Amino acid sequence: MRPLAGRKRVTETAAWLNRLAVCKKVRVMKSPTPLIAGNWKMNGLASSIAEAKAVAEGVGATQVRVAICPPCILIDRMSDALAGSKVLVGGQDAHADDAGAFTGDISAEMLADAGAKLVILGHSERREAYREDDELVAKKVRAALRHGLEPIVCVGESLDQRNAGKALEVVTAQVRGSLPPELKGKAFAVAYEPIWAIGTGLTPNNPQIEEVHGAIRATLVEMFGEEAQVVPILYGGSVKPSNAAEILHAREVGGALVGGASLKAADFLAIVRAV
Ligand code: PEP
Repeated sequence: MRPLAGRKRVTETAAWLNRLAVCKKVRVMKSPTPLIAGNWKMNGLASSIAEAKAVAEGVGATQVRVAICPPCILIDRMSDALAGSKVLVGGQDAHADDAGAFTGDISAEMLADAGAKLVILGHSERREAYREDDELVAKKVRAALRHGLEPIVCVGESLDQRNAGKALEVVTAQVRGSLPPELKGKAFAVAYEPIWAIGTGLTPNNPQIEEVHGAIRATLVEMFGEEAQVVPILYGGSVKPSNAAEILHAREVGGALVGGASLKAADFLAIVRAV
């Protein structure tokens, strides 16, 4: 991704090309608006809302879309605290059904009712710990859409799969299986999160990221047509202030899903500013 000044020039050029395209009947696609989303996982108490407020104050009127996904118990209070700011609040998971006898679960409708605008679905920690497969993730995506939530759908290979040369095969199969056709025309994001990079401090190099993001883009266009060019493809896995600029400037990287480094406002803001 280019710095904002550079992107403004790109936007102006795209507007000019679009005017030209009207005459020549050629379509010029817009690029995705970057999204930086923080995944707090099972971290944070009521007192942590102060960190979210500090993020909202720090981002000001940024052109980057910024979201924080705290534990669901904090969504209500955080949404109130961030009302009127540029920072959106999201959930970390949602049940595929809207209501019922599912002890301990939370529905997409409840998340939306509490003020969430987005929801992370299919995170590898849930795929692993709760045996969530692509079919279930696709049902959860449908539930999110029923209640106006923007899904951030996670995909990513294990180290064994990468070492066996299967990263692209695994990731594109997850994209095909987890994204239902109902997403056509809707706002959503895909997060590429290699499992071996989550919370480990390890990251793929930019050519590796670009290879997978390119394959995800091609799959999205195959599934949803040219409109899928504007779907942000986020990178996630050990993004921190020191590596954010390099990763965020890789081709087809439309933002980041950030775990550990999203817990401290200063670190998260540094990542937002690296776009
Ligand atoms: C995540 O789990 O979504 C994640 C990206 O974690 P971390 O940034 O801590 O690797």
